[in-house]
Amino acid sequence: MASSLHQSAFLEGFACLGDACEDTCCKGWGMQLDPVTKAKYEKQAPELLDAVTTGEAELIMKRDPQTDYCVKFAGGLCGIHQSYGTDFLGDACHFFPRSTRSLGDRTVMTAALSCPEVTRLALFGESGLTHREAAYDRLPWSLKNYLPEALDSEGALTVHRAFLEAAGAEDAPPERVMARLHAVATSLEMLDQASWPQAAGFYLKNADMRLAPPEPNPNDPFNLLHALAGLLSAAKPSPRPRLEQTIADMERALCVTLDPHTRAIITTPESFPAWQRLYGRWEREWATALRPVLARWLQAQLAIALYPFGGFGESPAERMAIIGVRFATVRLALTACCAAHDGIPPEQELIRVIQSLSRFLDHLADPTLSLSIYEETGWLRPARLRALVGDNSLQSQAQTASYGKTIAAHQL
Ligand code: SF4
Repeated sequence: MASSLHQSAFLEGFACLGDACEDTCCKGWGMQLDPVTKAKYEKQAPELLDAVTTGEAELIMKRDPQTDYCVKFAGGLCGIHQSYGTDFLGDACHFFPRSTRSLGDRTVMTAALSCPEVTRLALFGESGLTHREAAYDRLPWSLKNYLPEALDSEGALTVHRAFLEAAGAEDAPPERVMARLHAVATSLEMLDQASWPQAAGFYLKNADMRLAPPEPNPNDPFNLLHALAGLLSAAKPSPRPRLEQTIADMERALCVTLDPHTRAIITTPESFPAWQRLYGRWEREWATALRPVLARWLQAQLAIALYPFGGFGESPAERMAIIGVRFATVRLALTACCAAHDGIPPEQELIRVIQSLSRFLDHLADPTLSLSIYEETGWLRPARLRALVGDNSLQSQAQTASYGKTIAAHQL
């Protein structure tokens, strides 16, 4: 029987790229296998049990140690899908890159930017991230329910959609929107959850009054790259050529080098002037074209987190601060990519930058290291975070006033 759900509108157009994918999800990940599909293998296809092992989860699909691909991956396609059909795919393989959760009796589906085709559709497609009703014949056998006790499904959806809508606001640049979202997240935490459906919309409309004065630090762009390198050095080693290219562009643009072994950052007297020139070019030449992409990126983060009910971090404010640091990282990486191309890069390059960062950052399992780095740099404080995300100057106040006009006129 078909189930009804609320899904991100762009998913209507999604189809896996198959052997044309530039960063297939079958590589480098232990795709989980659910117990229902394992039981199906035991009864109907016991030969498939040879492809099942344990690792990142109790049951995962085996990877070829030479290639790091799933052992069933052949010629750019999934061997189980080809020979047995989609009914024999576990939930993780069947649904990836979609992410399905419940808010009580409502089911909500979106998808992860770690898939290049999702990045293209979500950030550059026409449909965007608003919710549409959809019907599905299959849903994951186990759905995590994010509904807090104090709310009913409709109230929780109202809060989530208020954040999604605010993230796509056209009255201000995404840097200001990011700062607003963090301010509101901090305020909501002080209220009883039962009042969130009424309070969220009001707070989001009046968020500018809650912004802390920005507190910039000239080391921020260098610390952003260094923080990313620190997270990478703590992660399981794995070839990540697309991410390495993104990082190499950032090193060149900032006139720094990352030690390949220790990932320590080495600056030169040219580094800060290089950043000033880069920032100037971003504001004058590239920001107008890329701010709509950043706005969609922000909406995609809130959608995948089912914000404020889920996400990376313990509380709404902590989760929003982590999204804020990632926003600043993506913005810096896009700026570096523009510098590498001496102009607005082709769409495929923008997709590579955003997808490669998502593929790494969205799969960190534990926020402890990220939070300790962000604490040390001061980025968890609202004033520091506001400056970090780029809402840090009189210039940005003026941009907020004129942004509605420029975004309406802009086509990437
Ligand atoms: S990453 Fe996306 S497009 Fe690529 S193989 Fe996986 S689902 Fe298909």
